[in-house]
Amino acid sequence: MEYYSLNGRSPKVSFQEAVVRGLAPDKGLYFPSSIPKLPNSFFDKLPSLTNEEIAIEVIKPYVNIEIPDLELERILHETLDFDIPVVPVEQDVSCLELYHGPTFAFKDVGARFMARCLGYFSQMEDESENVTVLVATSGDTGGAVAHGFYKVPGVEVVILYPKGKVSEVQEKQLTTLGENITAFEVEGTFDDCQAMVKRAFLDQDFQEKRKLTSANSINVARWLPQMFYYFLAYKQLLPLQKPVVFSIPSGNYGNICAGMMAQQMGLPIHHFVAGTNANKVVPDFLSTGNYRPRPSIATISNAMDVGDPSNFVRIQKIYGDDFGRLKKALSSFTYSDEKTRKAMLQLYKEQGYITDPHGAVGYLALKAYLKENSEVQGVFLETAHPIKFLNVLPQEIIDALEINSAVNELLQKQKKADKISAYGELKNYLLR
Ligand SMILES: *Cc1c(COP(=O)(O)O)cnc(C)c1O
Repeated sequence: MEYYSLNGRSPKVSFQEAVVRGLAPDKGLYFPSSIPKLPNSFFDKLPSLTNEEIAIEVIKPYVNIEIPDLELERILHETLDFDIPVVPVEQDVSCLELYHGPTFAFKDVGARFMARCLGYFSQMEDESENVTVLVATSGDTGGAVAHGFYKVPGVEVVILYPKGKVSEVQEKQLTTLGENITAFEVEGTFDDCQAMVKRAFLDQDFQEKRKLTSANSINVARWLPQMFYYFLAYKQLLPLQKPVVFSIPSGNYGNICAGMMAQQMGLPIHHFVAGTNANKVVPDFLSTGNYRPRPSIATISNAMDVGDPSNFVRIQKIYGDDFGRLKKALSSFTYSDEKTRKAMLQLYKEQGYITDPHGAVGYLALKAYLKENSEVQGVFLETAHPIKFLNVLPQEIIDALEINSAVNELLQKQKKADKISAYGELKNYLLR
């Protein structure tokens, strides 16, 4: 398998090069040169396979022989060493809980997988090939990346986050590790952080001196392992013998796009639903046919505050840039913070189920779809644990949440982050 740039002006590369580069030289996202179909025999034996066995069959064609089987098995074993359960919530509605990893958000799977791939590649190279992972976060990416890359030899991590716009748990997760992890608190918004990262990638001064890569879902090693969720959920839902609809709370559209890849590989997914907060470029696109990016708006589901989702070009590619085909495969709905809070309270009071604000958006979007479509099993993805969002949850829910010892310990830790407000300060640090 090779990877090509969706901008079409860069040479094809190996998996390793796509991972190390992050973005192609022409600034396009990498995309696999083909999407392999899994054989019927795989689906026949799916019910009896372990999570790791499923993951290896799914990811192997994309990794090629660039990572030996035994090593890949070890990587997947470490990546998937927590539960990924589907739990019933109400009639026709289940929740896929993706928050049982170390930083309580789904990004742990992609970040851990990418960190271990990069660690393997840099261990194969000499020291001059050390890599710096530079990443902007609106909340959850930072913690998952910090945790995933912590003490990985040959990899330094620099995280930018917007001051005052991440929750306390999120902030502590990315500012308290130390070692090879450095965090900068940026005077500005997530868009400002993102702009600094983009500028660094374009900066010629780094070309010779430092290998920079990204750990956002533009990186294929962060994006592709997200396919696992859909296979693992599907396996758990098989006994219901109903068509499965996934509703995904979406920001950069990496997670949902991985689901679409799983479907292309042969996984029988009936339909996709994208739930969004006030950042509604995609629902607007699906209703008007016009793709109009705009500045991001701050909401209580901060990990989805994205005004120009970077993975949308990949989605377009999957559906052959055909608006009609995409519209058949994907529905999308947008919700205000007020509706999101109401849904959290309603779910808690009526079903005794607590979601975080992102999961609640996924739930609402699923319900909107189910209103018009029956005879399917709906699954919304709960992308983070509610405990990460104590600052925005209704008090009744906070009172019902158990603050576990891991979170208490984390909150006791001392934050360590330098403040920056301009690109020059980041650059000085990277060129030090
Ligand atoms: C990152 C994140 C999302 C959005 O995922 P995308 O792949 O960017 O669409 C949703 N919910 C939570 C909790 C997240 O951390």
